[in-house]
Amino acid sequence: EKILEILDLDGVNRALTRIAHEILEKNQGVDDLLLIGIRTGGAYLATQLQKRISEIEGTEPPLGIIDVTMYRDDLGSRRDLMIGQTEIHVPVTGKKVVLVDDVLYTGRTIRAALEAVIALGRPENIQLAILLDRGHRELPIRPDYIGRNIPTAKNEQIKVDFDAQNIPQAVHLLRN
Ligand code: 5GP
Ligand code: MG
Repeated sequence: EKILEILDLDGVNRALTRIAHEILEKNQGVDDLLLIGIRTGGAYLATQLQKRISEIEGTEPPLGIIDVTMYRDDLGSRRDLMIGQTEIHVPVTGKKVVLVDDVLYTGRTIRAALEAVIALGRPENIQLAILLDRGHRELPIRPDYIGRNIPTAKNEQIKVDFDAQNIPQAVHLLRN
């Protein structure tokens, strides 16, 4: 097994700072912005984006969390996604929602998250920020903000390292 470094600590920080600027530019500031991280990696990254946006703009956008968990039946042949605990304490109606996740793959997690957000109200729009896009989409879903595109084989895996404070440290590609 081969391990390739995709992003080191500086690389992760630069990507997150750039995405924070892109979110602010596209939305002309923080007004009506709502960040929603997908547990767990996406929630850690959304916290980092919230911090950077607050440092740049002087105003902190609200942050919510959605839990999209994998459900497997007893044979393991079917893969399904279930919405678990959601912590969104502000109304989504009228908001510019930015969904945040660590890795985008088939798009099924984001589809489930979209459904969960829309069930809560009617956002003005929903955008998608992703640290790593590894390809292999099975649904018509594309990110608005991308840290890095990493073309992968299906048997490869991206590893996002977080420290004990849930601060991202690096990104590696595990190649078989
Ligand atoms: P999708 O639903 O798009 O197939 O998969 C995306 C979800 O699965 C994300 O929440 C992401 O955390 C996880 N995921 C998919 N592929 C990888 C991967 O290679 N590495 C990591 N760390 N997570 C992945
Ligand atoms: Mg995940």
